[in-house]
Amino acid sequence: MKLRVLGAHNVESRHTRMESHLVDGVLALDAGSLTRALTPDEQRGIRAIILSHRHFDHVKDLLPLGIAIRNEGVTVDVYAIQDTVDAVTDTLMSGRLFPDFLNSPSADAPTFRMHSVDFYQPFEVLGYRAMAVPVPHSVPAAGFSLASEGVSLFYTGDTGKGLSAAWEHVAPDVLLTEVTFGNDNEVGARASGHLTPNLLMEALREFGERHGRMPQVLVSHINPPWEDAVRRELAEITRESGQRFVVTEADMTFDLRDLAGRTG
Ligand SMILES: [Zn+2]
Ligand SMILES: [Zn+2]
Repeated sequence: MKLRVLGAHNVESRHTRMESHLVDGVLALDAGSLTRALTPDEQRGIRAIILSHRHFDHVKDLLPLGIAIRNEGVTVDVYAIQDTVDAVTDTLMSGRLFPDFLNSPSADAPTFRMHSVDFYQPFEVLGYRAMAVPVPHSVPAAGFSLASEGVSLFYTGDTGKGLSAAWEHVAPDVLLTEVTFGNDNEVGARASGHLTPNLLMEALREFGERHGRMPQVLVSHINPPWEDAVRRELAEITRESGQRFVVTEADMTFDLRDLAGRTG
């Protein structure tokens, strides 16, 4: 699995893009920056999208992607929990803001087809084994595990304190998660369902206690005013505990097998 970071922040600006990641050029994890980050050819390569939750910074590029690919003769399958499917169907996909992408160019071959998935029920998408697991956030939210070629990823999307309840269900080689705020805003992080460096480390300790090892950790979804603090505080945790973190940036790419140290 090759992971390409398309956007690694919760805010869009000249220098930051909202959260999206692309697996092997075909499967998108969230839709915060699918169009800004990709050439037209690369946009046409997307075959499926997994949405973690309904917040705008994770779904917004469904519309610009739809208009870009609507005459390509392909249907992109979109997977999410029911709450997300309902919210996206009722708003972005209502046909009021842009074409009705769920029924055009034709009802048989629409631009997007929405699929609701149940928690803990494994499903297959483009040959990857996937599963939604609930994660704590301010709205119903799912992390998604994804496995292929002997390597496993768990993408948390937005999550806050209490993430460790997911460790009962997943034990990924690579954890792609979020740190939105620095430690000085733990109150805000708790209130909004996000992580700080200390809250992430707390969840990782519980991962280690349960599974006897640590995953490789990729960090995304940083709030730009907190970025310096987040980087400094994660580096402090590394110095004190040895736990390593990769703070992702848009356009970074990772071979997850290499990252996980898997060979053969
Ligand atoms: Zn977000
Ligand atoms: Zn959110």
